[in-house]
Amino acid sequence: MTDNLYFERKYRTLMEDNQQNKPASLTRQKFIKKAAIAAVAGTSAWIAGCKDEQKSSNGPAIQSRKTYRWNMVTTWPPNFPVLGEGCNALAKFVEEASEGQMKINVYGGGELIPALEVFDAVSSGTAEMGHAGSYYWAGKAEATQLFSTIPFGMNAQEMNSWMLFGGGVDLWRELYSQFNLHPFLAGNTGVQMAGWFNREINSLADFKGLKMRIPGLGGKVLSQVGGTAINLPGGDLYTSLERGVIDATEWIGPYHDYLMGFHEIAKYYYAPGWHEPGSTLELIINKQKFDALPNNLQRILEAAALRLNMLSLAEFDKQNAIYMEKIKSETKVEVRFLPLDVLDGLRNATKEIVQDLIERDSFSSKVYESFSQYKKRMDDWMNYTEKAYYNLISV
Ligand code: CA
Repeated sequence: MTDNLYFERKYRTLMEDNQQNKPASLTRQKFIKKAAIAAVAGTSAWIAGCKDEQKSSNGPAIQSRKTYRWNMVTTWPPNFPVLGEGCNALAKFVEEASEGQMKINVYGGGELIPALEVFDAVSSGTAEMGHAGSYYWAGKAEATQLFSTIPFGMNAQEMNSWMLFGGGVDLWRELYSQFNLHPFLAGNTGVQMAGWFNREINSLADFKGLKMRIPGLGGKVLSQVGGTAINLPGGDLYTSLERGVIDATEWIGPYHDYLMGFHEIAKYYYAPGWHEPGSTLELIINKQKFDALPNNLQRILEAAALRLNMLSLAEFDKQNAIYMEKIKSETKVEVRFLPLDVLDGLRNATKEIVQDLIERDSFSSKVYESFSQYKKRMDDWMNYTEKAYYNLISV
């Protein structure tokens, strides 16, 4: 068995185990092409904000060397590539940096609590910390989703800048404090892929009647242009696409998508991920417990989150590049770009969706004002730098 095949099987087993809430070792029989939790598709990342004020220097004295044994719940399957693995690495880093003062047990979705209960579990203190994507919590407060990604919004580099230096993190913490949560940036997928289709997309009209698994604001945009956004657990995606229950699905990028096996059952793989241009992930900590930590542990957690934020994006880029090449060279899938006029149509529909959101929800309006002003400034700057570089320098 090649390493890749072994890894693919291991991955599918993990996804299946996660769905069934069983330890990974229990189910190795079949490689049913099931994937993870619904949640995952939306993202990937490990969020840890930084720029944390040293406001907690009034915590217990470090000299006491009280030790902490914390639980971290995640929305990812156990050891999920990049994200779950990144959480494991974060726990190891914290233990080593604190010289054993804090030890974190990491749980995949379904191991301690169901994946989509991470927010509530950390808020209530059932678990001290969690790792997720903030757009899973739109049901708690609509504005949460704006801190992970907005269709046609900022990319990873720009999101980091807005969050850390443009006031994003402050707004995020203002919102999350209402839920007794303290969030950190802790990961980013980079620009995702638009998804897997069995229908060519040549015009906006081709989205009419298209049943696609696409979460969040992107799903609302699809509906706006005549499609049907379907919310399916990751574990159901392969069979749903194979059987035609859905016509298309997005997931993350080439690395995770390949491991899901979508290239076996879809004809077209479209770029770019207009709906998730820089999905940011979060480390959320129970605020009461975070505030009570000694200052050194607060700073270590902040550093650990930022480290994860950096490493996840670097690893996504590495693996996605490798797996895009595999998809292009080893499969019959046609990798295509969405036509420009299609992207223009989706962008216009996004404006309508966002307008509706900010008219309905005052905190979303406040966040979007900050986001859009920052993006405008970034757009101008990037025209001279990143964008100019990509467009003008041939590779
Ligand atoms: Ca996605």
